[in-house]
Amino acid sequence: MATVAETARKVQSGEVTSESLVKASLAKIEATKGLNAYISVIAEEALERARILDKRAAGGEKLGPLAGIPVAVKDNIVTAQGKTTCGSKILGQFRSPYDATAVERLIAAGAVPVGKTNMDEFAMGSTSETSAYGAPRNPLDESVIAGGSSGGSAVAVAAGTVAVSLGSDTGGSIRQPASCCGLVGVKPTYGRVSRYGLVAYASSLDQIGTFGNTVADAALLLNSICGWDKHDNTSAQVVVPDFTASLGKGIKGKVIGLPKECFGVGLQPEVRNAVMKALEILEKEGAVMREVSIPSFQYAIAAYYVIATAEASANLSRYDGVRYTIRSKEAKDLFGLYAKTRSEGFGEEVKKRILLGTYVLSSGFYDAYYMQAQKVRRLITDDFNKAFASCDVVVTPTMPTLPQKVGGIFTDPMTQYLGDIYTVAVNLAGLPALSQPVGRLGKLSVGMQFIGKAFQEEDLFQVAAATEKLCAA
Ligand code: GLN
Repeated sequence: MATVAETARKVQSGEVTSESLVKASLAKIEATKGLNAYISVIAEEALERARILDKRAAGGEKLGPLAGIPVAVKDNIVTAQGKTTCGSKILGQFRSPYDATAVERLIAAGAVPVGKTNMDEFAMGSTSETSAYGAPRNPLDESVIAGGSSGGSAVAVAAGTVAVSLGSDTGGSIRQPASCCGLVGVKPTYGRVSRYGLVAYASSLDQIGTFGNTVADAALLLNSICGWDKHDNTSAQVVVPDFTASLGKGIKGKVIGLPKECFGVGLQPEVRNAVMKALEILEKEGAVMREVSIPSFQYAIAAYYVIATAEASANLSRYDGVRYTIRSKEAKDLFGLYAKTRSEGFGEEVKKRILLGTYVLSSGFYDAYYMQAQKVRRLITDDFNKAFASCDVVVTPTMPTLPQKVGGIFTDPMTQYLGDIYTVAVNLAGLPALSQPVGRLGKLSVGMQFIGKAFQEEDLFQVAAATEKLCAA
C-alpha cells in the first residue's frame, strides 16, 4: 500500500490527480455505507477543492505534505463545510461558521476533507454505540464493536475510504477504536494540538489526534496539525519536531517500562500473550525491558469519571435550546424551554453523565468527589514521572479484552467503563500515547499502547515504527 507521503508527492508532480483520489474515496464511502462510518459526506465541496488543488499543482505551486489527500474528520471537530452533529440529535442541523484549527491546518497542508465521521454522542463512550445516528460497524468483524468514541474515524480508515483521519481522545477515544479496528491511533500530549473548534467534552483532557494504517501515515498527519494557536491558550508554545524523522531509528537501547499494575488481574490471557510476544521480539532486537510501578493506576477510572463528567456537565450547559440548533416546540416558558430541549435532544448516556457531573460538583459533595479526584490526578502524574525516570516509554495493552460484542454497553455498562483502564490515566497525566496492532486472533486485532513523556511523541513514533517492522515480519 502506498504511503500518504508517496501519494501526496504523486499529486504534487501530477502523476496522480487529487480529483481521482477524492472520487475513489467517495465511491468507497458509498460502497461501504452499511458500515455507517460517516454521519455526513461533503462530496461536492471535496471534489471542487481537489480540482483546485490539481490546477495549482499543474501550475507549479507547492501544495504541502498532504497534497490532494482525502481525509475524514470526527464529527465533533467543526468544519465550515457540512454539518457538525457530535453524534447528537441536539446538534442535528448545526453548521459551524468556521473550521477548527486542526482542520484549517490540514487544508493548508493540502488535504481534502471528504466527510464527518460517526461517534459516541459528545464523545461519551468506548463503543460508538451511543451515537444518535446508529453505531458504526467494525470491518474486521461486524459482530463486535468498532470501539469509541472515534469509531467512525477508525472504520473510515479500516474500510479503506480514506488513508488517514482525525479523532479526539479524552480517555481513550482514539486508541481504543484503533485497537478494535487494527489501526495505529495517536493521542498527542495535552497542548500539542489546538482544541479550537473541537467541541468540548472534558476540556482538561480532550485532545485531537490521528488514525492511520501505518505509524508513518499517522505521524505525517499529526505533524500537520500540531503547534501553538492563538485561539487556544492551552496549546503549548513548544517546537514541533518532524515526527517522521524518528521512524527509521530502530529500537536498540530504548528502555521500555512495564507497569506491574497493568499486566495482572483483569487482563484477558489472549491479549496478554499477544502483547508479551511483541515485547519479546523487541527485546531480542535490543530494547531493554524494565518493570515499573504506577501505584495510583487502580484509581484512574474512578478519578477520570468524576473529572470528565464534572467538566462535561459544565460544557454541555450551553445546549439550551436558545443557541445552536434544535428547540423544543412543547415549551411554555424559559425554564421549560431549557428542560424540554435538553430532554428531547440528549441521549441517555449524556444525561447520565450530566447528572453525575452535576452531583460531584454540588456543594457538600465537591470535596468528597471532585477534590479527591483532582488529588488522584496529581498522584497519577507523579507516578508516571517517577516511572519515566527509569524508562523512555511505558507499555500496556490498549484494552484489557478483545473487542466486546455489539450491544454490551446497554446490558453491562460497567464492563465498558472498566475497558478504559489502560487509557484514561494517560489523559489525566496529559501524556502522549499511541496504540498499534500487534497480533491477530481470528478476525480480531489486539492493540498495544506505548505511553511517552510529555512532548516526546518522537519516542512513541520511534518504538512504534520499529515494532511495526519487526512484528509484521
Ligand atoms: N470511554 C471514555 C468516556 O466515555 C473516553 C471517551 C473519550 O476519550 N472521548 O469518557
